[in-house]
Amino acid sequence: MSRKLQLEQAYRAAVEEISNLCRTNSYAVPNLVAVSKYKPAEDIRVLYDLGHRDFGENYVQELQQKAVQLPKDIKWHFIGNLQSNKAKLAREIPNLAFVETLDSTSKATKLDNQRGQLSAPSPLGVYIQINTSEEAQKAGIFASNLNEIESLAKHILERCPNLKFTGLMTIGSYEQSHGKAENQDFRRLSDIREKISRNLGVPTQSLGLSMGMSADYVQAIKQGSTNVRIGSNIFGGRVSKEDISRSS
Ligand SMILES: *Cc1c(COP(=O)(O)O)cnc(C)c1O
Repeated sequence: MSRKLQLEQAYRAAVEEISNLCRTNSYAVPNLVAVSKYKPAEDIRVLYDLGHRDFGENYVQELQQKAVQLPKDIKWHFIGNLQSNKAKLAREIPNLAFVETLDSTSKATKLDNQRGQLSAPSPLGVYIQINTSEEAQKAGIFASNLNEIESLAKHILERCPNLKFTGLMTIGSYEQSHGKAENQDFRRLSDIREKISRNLGVPTQSLGLSMGMSADYVQAIKQGSTNVRIGSNIFGGRVSKEDISRSS
């Protein structure tokens, strides 16, 4: 089977599974981010030609290279670890639509400043990344640190006119992602949204929950995900970054 056909089938299967699940259970249909890290621009093009526009990337340089080659109406989601010195992404890529991994006020300020320098600034959507499983190696603000989460949310709302506070994002732990029961990481994310909404006076429905990847998006949708990020189920497995740089 050609790569094109393979991608089209995998993409249609994912879209169909999500829409069937939502229709049968009356869940709201979440936004689907096709996570294209390590995959070539031609792969993205195939889904683009089917009408898909939301793509997720983890690495700054890779995103920059793809963004210049691909159509400007793509909505890029940056979902990788964002270093402070890479905030210029918000200006360099006007169609960067979301940064899903915001975790500090200083990065928010930098993104806001960069975005404001565009000649026609369109707000950059940001999700605060929460480390719901509180694993040491994972990025994001610890779920138990509600004060820090709330002060970052406040900072975005009150001091960052070029950012739009879109919601909360998490990567569930491996154990929770492969269990059968309710996912406790997703539960924590949803609980934090309730608290923020109450304490800051923002309607719950105006805040999204970015949760669910290939292994756990069905459960995430059951628990109210508004934004699932699916990579390998659509694009197939990934080789490591090292393999890529050797072969290019
Ligand atoms: C890679 C990645 C995904 C997609 O993972 P799959 O398991 O391949 O679906 C989603 N979210 C983040 C933050 C990622 O880094």
